[in-house]
Parts: sequence; structure tokens; C-alpha cells
Amino acid sequence: MNIIYIRTLDTLFLQPHCRAGTLSYACQDNRVLQISDGTGGKKKVVILGTGWAGASFLRNIDTSLYDVHVVSPRNYFMFTPLLPSVTCGTVEARSIVEPIRNIVRKRGGAFRFWEAECYKIDPTSKKVHCKSGDGTNADANGEFVVDYDYLIVTVGAKPNTFNTPGVAENCHFLKEVEDAQKIRKSVMKCFERAALPNLTDEERKKNVHFVVIGGGPTGVEFAAELHDFVNEDLAKLYPDVKKYVNISVIEAGEHILTMFDKRITHFAEDKFKRTGIDLKTNFKVVKVSDKTITMSNPTTGEIAVPYGLAVWSTGIGTRPIIMDFMKQVGQGNRRVLATDEWLRVLGCDNVYALGDCATISQRKVMEDVDSIFRVADKDNSGTLSVKNIKNVLGDIYQRYPQVELYLKTNQMKGFHDLLKDKETEELNIEEFKKALAQVDSQVKMLPATAQVAAQEGAYLADCFNRMNTCEENPEGPLRIRGAGRHRFKPFRYRHLGQFAPLGGEQTAAQLPGDWVHVGHSTQWLWYSVYASKQFSWRTRMLVVTDWGRRFFFGRDSSSL
Ligand code: FAD
Ligand code: MG
Repeated sequence: MNIIYIRTLDTLFLQPHCRAGTLSYACQDNRVLQISDGTGGKKKVVILGTGWAGASFLRNIDTSLYDVHVVSPRNYFMFTPLLPSVTCGTVEARSIVEPIRNIVRKRGGAFRFWEAECYKIDPTSKKVHCKSGDGTNADANGEFVVDYDYLIVTVGAKPNTFNTPGVAENCHFLKEVEDAQKIRKSVMKCFERAALPNLTDEERKKNVHFVVIGGGPTGVEFAAELHDFVNEDLAKLYPDVKKYVNISVIEAGEHILTMFDKRITHFAEDKFKRTGIDLKTNFKVVKVSDKTITMSNPTTGEIAVPYGLAVWSTGIGTRPIIMDFMKQVGQGNRRVLATDEWLRVLGCDNVYALGDCATISQRKVMEDVDSIFRVADKDNSGTLSVKNIKNVLGDIYQRYPQVELYLKTNQMKGFHDLLKDKETEELNIEEFKKALAQVDSQVKMLPATAQVAAQEGAYLADCFNRMNTCEENPEGPLRIRGAGRHRFKPFRYRHLGQFAPLGGEQTAAQLPGDWVHVGHSTQWLWYSVYASKQFSWRTRMLVVTDWGRRFFFGRDSSSL
């Protein structure tokens, strides 16, 4: 680093500000120390978060084009689909994490990483305010400010307790590696407590009553993992405790795994019943104390059950930093941060949001229908011929994917099927509106999954890498409310299928084309897909070794 410009230096109150091309330290009285950081004036991209979306963006961005900075409280990427396996020691925590610096270094790229949490986004002055757990300044408060040209927000979501009393204090969550490690320790502690002398049967039962609240994929997978752990490993080690063990899954809705095909839901429910997992559907947890979980059901009313360990897995909520940001950009009445189809946050410039912290607000056809008509009606005749429509069809399909989805859902071959009641060759605006009236019913929100986050990260990095080319040769659809074309094609999600491991070496798979399969063969498919999706050969090797170790030697049952 070369010092290129120093006015005055107050070493006691240095506040780092980072700007493309320079690193400047603003002192308390705004005197500035600027240090060249050798970026050559490249545009500065700041990424918040190192999860699925952030790491995927980082893996794909060309760091020779941008000055890339990353802020995240964890310096690693974590492979969340294998997190439930860490709770029972099937897979070790180290095997599912990849240091973020490794991900970039391997590609020969350069970037800066700051291990800190961003607590405020200021889109007006294009700055993010961050705080590190360790002090970075002379006064050791650890606060610093980073400015950006482009900001990529990928901070994910937090567990949602729905403000249920006692949940935050008494339940485990399953979101971070530390959560999984804590659960593993607590499971072992429950067994050791239940094995102590001089306990009544009731006390033993309470200690090994494991309750999972939430029948989504994570809750179900954890219950299945725990069931396997108890039956395959712990039953041999704690033969006197085994008969007291009870695993319950509490779900407020009528069924578990509702995001899967009904056949999978039913198979999972039957399997749980057969293997002795106590499934309580239509029960809503209303309170959790350190000893009991209180739940209610229209027929039974409120009941309180004693428990040894509870895992809360009922979905995700918005992080405070995103709540605050939404208020600043006029989205204060929303639950999730909204972006357009190019992942740009609505209401501010040069800020992108992807992954679990944001959702794409798909443009409705009916909101733009007058403009679409105007664009298609090239000769301003006030009517559209089928040929007119054909000319803009590609753009309509690109910009409004619901049109294609609507045709597919209704087994229509093409747009002309929407007009089949028409006798004349030309359409006026009212007829055009009538044809498209039902199309917006097909607008779908993308699920909060790793698959979506990873695809969004890769898509956005690709757009950034081709920013200049696409500026000159835009490849996106026609602008409906402006002139010319959009620079990029909108983000389009490609669903590759989903898995639900159900324990006992059986996994349910739902693949594209409505292909549903449950069994041992899909368990092997699950092993191979998850091994192949690892970010590095190191984690791939570790995960495969962990699986093998478990087959031959069982899981670790120490309370370490
Ligand atoms: P995350 O991956 O959560 O990453 C958020 C990042 O932001 C983290 O690095 C975090 O440390 C950082 N961060 C947080 N706050 C701040 C801040 N203030 N400033 C800076 N950085 C911050 N999806 C699937 O598709 N398949 C599965 O099998 C699957 N299994 C799952 C199992 C479990 C146990 C869990 C919890 C989730 C699972 N998911 C699965 C969902 C998937 O993990 C999420 O959808 C995905 O992680 C979302 O990616 P993201 O980048 O938005 O957020
Ligand atoms: Mg016309």
C-alpha cells in the first residue's frame, strides 16, 4: 500500500472509510487520511453475507473487473442441507463449511473480507455501517463504515418465533453450525440425565422427550436423524434409557411437508407413525417454559407436556437490518424486501438483494396491459393483429413468465389459444385485456431455498461480468414503459427438484416433471447429489468420509 495523501492524522480516533481506489481514515474532526489500495479505480462492489447467495455471487464474479469487498459475521460458507446431519454427529461441523477466502483464492481472484456485521444500510450516501465483534479502532468499539458503488445484500433470514412466549429462551434453533453443535451436546446431556440414579420413571421420560416444533423439511429431517441416532447408536449404549425415549413433531397445519407432493407427505406421515415418532398435527404451540411446552388444539384445548429438548423450526422471519432498510426505501409496510426481476431493490439505486432476505416482486401483466398494447400496436391503429402480438411475444414471455405458465397449466399450445373465442383477425384493447385477464393468477413467489439463492447469486454475477457488453448490446426484453431494451434478461429460476430425508436410509425425492420416488435408491441419489454440490473437493472428501465412518463405527456419542 502506498500512502498518497495525508492532511493530518489523529491516531486516537480513526474511523476507516473505504472508497474505490482509496482507503481513507476520517478522524473525529473529519480530517482524512487516504491510502491507495491499488484497485485502479474499479467500481466497488460490497457484498453483505457469505451464505448461499453471497458465496455463489462471489464464486462467479470476475474480480478483475470489480473491487470486491465482503462483510459477514462468519468467514465461511456453510452447506445448510447437511446441517441436520451435524445435530447427531452423522457429519462433522468442519465437513460442511468452506472458508470464504479459499473460495476466491482458488480461482486466483482478489477481494477483501471483513468479519463483521452490517447494522445499517444507508442508500442515500451509499454507505454501510458495520460492527466487528473485536474492536478495530483505537477506542475499540469495532465500528467502521464502508462505501459502495454497488451493494449486494444477501444477509439471509432469522428464525421466526411468531413472538411465542418462552421460545427464544428455551428452544434450540437450527440455523447456524453452532446451533447444530449445541443440539448434539444437549441430546447427549438429556441421555446422561435420564441415566442418572434415583430418578422416577416420569423424570426419565421427561429428560428424553425430544420435541420438534414445525413439520417443514428441516424439522422432519432433524426428527428422522434423531430417530436413527437413538435406534442405531444410543439404544446400544443406553439400554435402560431406550424405553423412555419419545420423539414428537408438532405441526400447526393438517399435514407435514406441505411443500412436497401429497404422496410424499402421506408416505412421511405413515413412516413416522410406523417408527414411533409421535406426530401431532393441528397443534399450535402457544408457550414454552423451561419444563413444559403448552400447545393447543380445537378439540383438546390447551395441554402442557414436559420435555427434555425442544427444537423450534417453524420458518423464517426478517432480520432487523432489513426491516430498517425497508422503512428507508418506502417498503415499510412489507414483510420481505422486494426487488424487481433483475434483483434490484425497489425504491433505491445500485442495491441488489437476493436469497432469503428478499423476494422478487413479479410485474403483473394487467398493470402494464395498456403499455404492452401500445408497444405491440406499431401502426397506432388501436387494434392488434395476431402478427403484431407475435412480434412482441418473446418479450412478453421473458418479462411476464406467468403468461407461459398459464398456457402450460391450461394445456394451451400458444398465445393464440388465449384468443380462441375471437372471430375477427384484429383485437381491440378490451379484447386484449380480456384474453390476459386470468394470467396473473399464475404469479408465484420463489421459495426460500438454497437452490434459489445459489441461482440468483450466479445470475447476478454473470450480469455484473457482462455489464459493459450488455450496456452496448442489451439482451433483455423490450422496455414496456420506456424506450429500447432492458440490459439483461430477467432472472429465471430453474427448479431441479427437492429431497426430504426420512431416516432409515430412505429419502423422498420430487424431481422436475412430477417424478416422485421414495426409498433406498433415492437415498443414494441424495448422497451423490449432496456430495457433488459441495463447494470444494476438501468438503466433498470430508462429507463422504463422515458417511463412511458412520456406517462402520457409528456416530460419536460423547457429550463433547
Ligand atoms: P444464508 O445462507 O442464511 O446466509 C446469510 C449470510 O449473511 C450468512 O453468512 C450470515 O452470517 C450473513 N449475515 C447475517 N446477518 C448479517 C449482517 N447483518 N451483515 C452481514 N452479513 C450478515 N435449502 C435447500 O434448497 N435445500 C435444502 O436441503 C435446505 N436445507 C436446509 C436445512 C437447514 C437446517 C436450513 C437452516 C436451511 C436449509 N435450506 C435448504 C434453506 C437454505 O439454507 C436457505 O434458503 C439459504 O441459506 C438462503 O441463502 P442466503 O444466502 O439468502 O442466506
Ligand atoms: Mg394495429
